[in-house]
Amino acid sequence: MGLPRLGFVFPLAFIRRTLVALLLCSLASTAAAKPKVLASIKPLALIAQEVAGGHADIDTLLPVTASAHDYPLKMSDHRRLRDADLVLWVGAELESFLARPLASLPAQQVLTTYGLGDLFWPELDNHDHAHTSRDNQHQHTSGDPHIWLDPRNAAVIARALAERLTQIAPESGAQFTLNAERFSQSLVELDAQLLKQLAPVKPLGFAVYHEGYSHFVSHYGLHQLAYVTFTPERRPGAKHLQELRDVLAKEGRCVFLEPYHNSSSLEEMAHSLGLNIGMLDPVGNEQVSSYRMLMEQLGQSFLRCLADSADSGAANH
Ligand SMILES: [Zn+2]
Repeated sequence: MGLPRLGFVFPLAFIRRTLVALLLCSLASTAAAKPKVLASIKPLALIAQEVAGGHADIDTLLPVTASAHDYPLKMSDHRRLRDADLVLWVGAELESFLARPLASLPAQQVLTTYGLGDLFWPELDNHDHAHTSRDNQHQHTSGDPHIWLDPRNAAVIARALAERLTQIAPESGAQFTLNAERFSQSLVELDAQLLKQLAPVKPLGFAVYHEGYSHFVSHYGLHQLAYVTFTPERRPGAKHLQELRDVLAKEGRCVFLEPYHNSSSLEEMAHSLGLNIGMLDPVGNEQVSSYRMLMEQLGQSFLRCLADSADSGAANH
């Protein structure tokens, strides 16, 4: 073949250098073609997967068992943040532990979704102040950072990500844009499905474990009475628990716990009041493989706990 004969003409070291150079060159072009996206939490990674469609590598920083509000970063996590072409996170309002490490990265390497202008925000107190003016939407917003729990926001995030990925890998830009559009279309359908499914349970009162569902609750018009704790790390005080008990005794049907949080006092309260106990997971467990699945499971959790409550009481727990 050609190679041994070339060895006659060129010194072997030259050939070796040339081969190494060719190899490095091809590695570099492969890396450029597939940007590495590191999502802080699973829901953002699920959205990123839809946009990437195989043209970008998606990785998730936090394990699903970790709290998105508070997480001790390891040395290896800091390395993963630096090595990513793009870090996708909500913002300091949720993953406060990422604010400092991300501040040291170049701005074009970070996509902060909390600040996206097109996001939808829950209306405050939609039960008590239904008469307040609607002309200035921004006055009625709460800053709940669990923005992905409104499917319209997932579309906003997908489009922003497609734009940023196109800057990083222009050769796949058309694909990213198309994927984001297709995903957005599927979300319209998912949204309509959830709206229809949840309609019958809208008037039924419940409490959630932490104040992280207002995007879902407000968008689908559900009747949340209270939350147990503002963030999962904070333990509720005795006074708050008493208030919670009073409001649940009056019109509560269901109490939602969360995986990975011990809430035996809440469980006892639900049992003593004869309420259903449900489980909500805002980020999705290991089995959840798509954004649609995450949202469908959430919808099912609300439906099961609320729809059953009239007949079965606490018995189904
Ligand atoms: Zn949360």
